[in-house]
Amino acid sequence: MTQNHFGPTRLDAALVPLIAQKWGTPVYLHDRAFIEQSCDQLLNMPNAFGLHVRYAMKANSDRTVLRVVTGKGLDLDCSSVDEAARAHSAGIPYDRMMLTTQEVPLGQEREELEGMIRNGLKYNVCSLTQYRLIADFAKQAGIDLSIRVHPGASGGGESQTRDTGSEYSCFGVHLNDIPTVVEMARDKGLRFTQVHVHIGSGGDPEKWRENIDRELGFVRSYFPDAGTVSFGGGLKVARMPGEKQADINELGTYAAARLKEFKEQTGRALRMEIEPGTFVVANSGYIITRVMDKKLTNEMNFLLVDGGMELLSRPLLYGSEHPISIVGQDGTLRSSEYDSYSVGTATPYGIVGRCCESGDSVRLDNEGTIVPVQVAEAEIGDYVVIGGTGAYSESMSPENYNSHRKAPAVMKMKDAELVLIRKRQVREQLVQNELDVDL
Ligand SMILES: *Cc1c(COP(=O)(O)O)cnc(C)c1O
Repeated sequence: MTQNHFGPTRLDAALVPLIAQKWGTPVYLHDRAFIEQSCDQLLNMPNAFGLHVRYAMKANSDRTVLRVVTGKGLDLDCSSVDEAARAHSAGIPYDRMMLTTQEVPLGQEREELEGMIRNGLKYNVCSLTQYRLIADFAKQAGIDLSIRVHPGASGGGESQTRDTGSEYSCFGVHLNDIPTVVEMARDKGLRFTQVHVHIGSGGDPEKWRENIDRELGFVRSYFPDAGTVSFGGGLKVARMPGEKQADINELGTYAAARLKEFKEQTGRALRMEIEPGTFVVANSGYIITRVMDKKLTNEMNFLLVDGGMELLSRPLLYGSEHPISIVGQDGTLRSSEYDSYSVGTATPYGIVGRCCESGDSVRLDNEGTIVPVQVAEAEIGDYVVIGGTGAYSESMSPENYNSHRKAPAVMKMKDAELVLIRKRQVREQLVQNELDVDL
């Protein structure tokens, strides 16, 4: 426990006022070294017959993040045609992308998609409708497909909203429909060379292992042409003390053993693919906010900070917990939930943002009531730093609510240099698509 550091990356608290003074608050911060270490860890996952790692770019789709991650050798999983186009505009070729989407692109978007596929984008069929729309094109262009299977078994974490495998979610072609789609493909002479399942985010590693067994079962029954099997993303990270992170070595060792078994039984050596988002970036990110005001009610002591749900919606959406640190105006770390570090007595504060929304807080219970966070006594002008915000924060937030402008992002490079990677939105951008019509 050192006084000047906090968080899994041991980010120096002294940087906080430097960043805040230079670029203002609220501001997102990313630690490049951390992202690269996560990539290395994933690329070194034990495997039997080869490993391919795709980064699920919806976790954080910023171009600098994409360049860092692909620079390490990870490819991408895109969740929409626009996401693929966005990655391409960052200089990433289509042959490094797979598209796994709920969309059924039509018209011009459909043509665009066909162009992407011709340039090497892998299409992951996620519904019967998608199959019917793509089949003729794939056949004529001589392109093999991937298929996402809905396993009818759940896998998500603490929240039903992140479970993508249960009967109450609708991702992929349901197992019930697999015989039909396999037969249609066989009749057409199309091949599914990859089978994919993603059961959800942040769940129990046991679910991840169960999914491997189940998935290999239906690869064996239905997919004779599959050479690659994707076990999806969903590798859990520990944001808060006491949470348990997925053990990449242990999961890889398990997967490798099952794949070797599969080879002994069938003679088929399957390459393994994984597509984590959270694991790559979650703990590389922080949000730096500034205490603007303090208020007291009969029930709660409040710190009002200048960024909340419009920067990070996970507490409101999922009840997720993110570790809070208090950094003084002089850059000293005063308290950190990462390691129960606190100077002086910890005080329970309701930490709220600036949106006109009673649930705009970083800590909420299941009913959406604000839960106080135990932190060091903080004054107006001190910093509240929210940790574990590298994934699903800037890419998934109700930005511009209350007409707040999207916050800028800074990356700490490997030589500790701080670089602005995204500017703060300007006011004009809030209204740039609105038209002045005659009234
Ligand atoms: C969101 C998503 C992922 C990544 O999930 P994480 O929990 O961030 O690892 C992987 N695959 C698909 C298809 C997804 O939709």
